[in-house]
Amino acid sequence: MTDAPILAPDPAAIARAAQALRDGLLVGLPTETVYGLAADATSDRAVAAIFAAKNRPRFNPLIVHVADIESAQRLVAFDSRADSLAAKFWPGPLTMVLPRRADGGVSLLCSAGLDSLAVRMPAHDVARAVIRAAGRPLAAPSANPSGRLSPTRAEHVARSLGGKVALVLDGGPCPVGVESTVVDLTGAKALLLRPGGIAEEQLAAVIGALDHPKAGSAIKSPGMLESHYAPHLPLRLGAHDVRPDEALLAFGGAVPTGARMTLNLSPAGDLVEAASHLFDYLHRLDQSGAKAIAATAIPERGLGRAINDRLRRAAAPR
Ligand code: AMP
Ligand code: MG
Repeated sequence: MTDAPILAPDPAAIARAAQALRDGLLVGLPTETVYGLAADATSDRAVAAIFAAKNRPRFNPLIVHVADIESAQRLVAFDSRADSLAAKFWPGPLTMVLPRRADGGVSLLCSAGLDSLAVRMPAHDVARAVIRAAGRPLAAPSANPSGRLSPTRAEHVARSLGGKVALVLDGGPCPVGVESTVVDLTGAKALLLRPGGIAEEQLAAVIGALDHPKAGSAIKSPGMLESHYAPHLPLRLGAHDVRPDEALLAFGGAVPTGARMTLNLSPAGDLVEAASHLFDYLHRLDQSGAKAIAATAIPERGLGRAINDRLRRAAAPR
C-alpha cells in the first residue's frame, strides 16, 4: 500500500480532512471505539468507495456519524426511547437503528436498501470536529479490510488502507477499543444487535429489558435481511434481452433495447459507480409500472460481488 499521510489532528489537518471528505474522498478518523473509514454519507459515490476500499463481499448497512443530536434527528425519526438513550449515552459508543427519514439526504447505500438507518454521535473530539468542519454526516465503518482486525491506532489504518484514504488523522490509541453497542429501535421491543462499548444493563436501566436476535433466524444481522432488500417486482438476472413490459437494470455498453424503462448502473462499466446507483435504481425501476425487472449480468469481481450478492437475494423466491 502507498502511504497516506498520518497527520496530527491540529486545525489545519482537520480542515484538510473535511475538504477531502467534501471532495468525495475517504479519510481515516479516530473515534473512541475504533478508527473509522469515513466518507460523506450524503454521496452515493463516496459511500460506494467505502465498500470498495474494505473489499466487502456484500453490502451491509453502515453507521452514520453526527456531531449533535439535532443532526441525527434530521436523518431518522426519534421516539421517546431514542430521546432517553441519546440524552444519557451520547456522545458515546451507542448506535441506534431508527426509521430513516425520506428527506434526510443520506445515501441509500448507508441503509443497504433498508428503511432504517444507524446513527451515532462519537465521544471523540477529533471525530466531531471533522464532522462539523465537513458540514455533513459521515458514514464510517471500522477502517480495516473486510475480515481483518479492527484498527485502534492510526498506523493500523495506514498499514492496511493507506492506498485508499486521502489521509489518516492520528488521535492516538482508541480509548474504548471495541465497537459501539448497536440497538435496533424500529420495533416495539428494543433489540440488541451488537454488544459493544455500552453494556446491555446500562441500556436496560433506561429503556427496560432488550430482546436478542433469535439464533437461527438472524433476521437483523448484516446481509440477512432478504425480504427487506427485495423490490416488489420479480427480478430476472443475467438477461440478454428484455420484454416491453419489463424494466431493465443495465450495466456496461452493450445493452438490450425495448424495455419499458432502462437505468444503466454504469454505461462505462465502472463497478464503484454501479454500486453507488444500485439501491436508488432498484427503487425507481420498482415504481416504473413495469411487470418485472430484468438485470443484465454484472462481472463477479471487486464491488461486482457485492452487487451480485444483493441482486441474487432480491431475485430469490419469496
Ligand atoms: P461497522 O460499521 O463495521 O461498525 O458495523 C455496523 C454494524 O451496525 C453492523 O453490525 C450492522 O449490521 C449494524 N447496522 C448498521 N445499520 C443498520 C441497520 N439499518 N439495520 C440493522 N443493522 C444495522
Ligand atoms: Mg467492522
